[in-house]
Amino acid sequence: EIDELKDEINIVGKSLQRSTQELEILVEQRTEELKKANLKLEKLAYTDSLTGVANRSALLNKSEEELRRSRRLGYDMGVMMLDLDNFKSVNDNYGHDAGDKVLKSVAQAVNNSLRKDETLGRLGGEEFVVIVHGADKVGMQQLAGRIQDVISLQDFSFLREGYSVTVSIGYTKVEKNEQFKSALKRADSHLYTAKANGRNCCVTDSEIIPKLVK
Ligand code: GH3
Ligand code: MG
Ligand code: MG
Repeated sequence: EIDELKDEINIVGKSLQRSTQELEILVEQRTEELKKANLKLEKLAYTDSLTGVANRSALLNKSEEELRRSRRLGYDMGVMMLDLDNFKSVNDNYGHDAGDKVLKSVAQAVNNSLRKDETLGRLGGEEFVVIVHGADKVGMQQLAGRIQDVISLQDFSFLREGYSVTVSIGYTKVEKNEQFKSALKRADSHLYTAKANGRNCCVTDSEIIPKLVK
């Protein structure tokens, strides 16, 4: 009888062990699924859903990260603000969907023209920001020109034939000990000047380069 009992206990023990193993595998699988779901959520939280580029909060996070890196490694960082010109009239004349298409196309074109270590983000509406790696006079000026060029080369034939989408740009260098947001404000005020200068142009600090009107 004791032997029989022993056998039964063994059988129950083994089955318990199997169940525990199965449970462990299941927990592992679920943890993996949860991790993937979290990554997806994180990505969604940091991506602008319309254009796929970094959204405002991702951009600001990235700017802090980049600024620390640039100071550690001793290179300058630049910030560039872009705002589409007369964008309201695209919506008014061709509809909101056409406006969305323009935003997507512009974001894609600008993103493709950046280097790997540069970040494009959508600050909101039709305003974009580029975090620029290095902020030398020639490099920033060239980048601004390249951005204007790639936008002008996009196919906007879904709007009226020959309609040209243009952008105004304000840019500056993040100064030593300066917060990113304060440089962003300066870039924004240069952008304002670019608008006042008639749009479709770039403006920067006079110390970097005299006000440039393209
Ligand atoms: P300016 O040259 O001075 O920048 O003029 P603007 O018309 O571009 O600027 P304004 O700020 O007057 O208008 C911006 C417009 O952008 C108004 C708003 O309806 C539109 N807009 C903002 N977000 C979106 C969006 O996600 N999709 C579309 N289609 N339009 C948007
Ligand atoms: Mg605008
Ligand atoms: Mg605007």
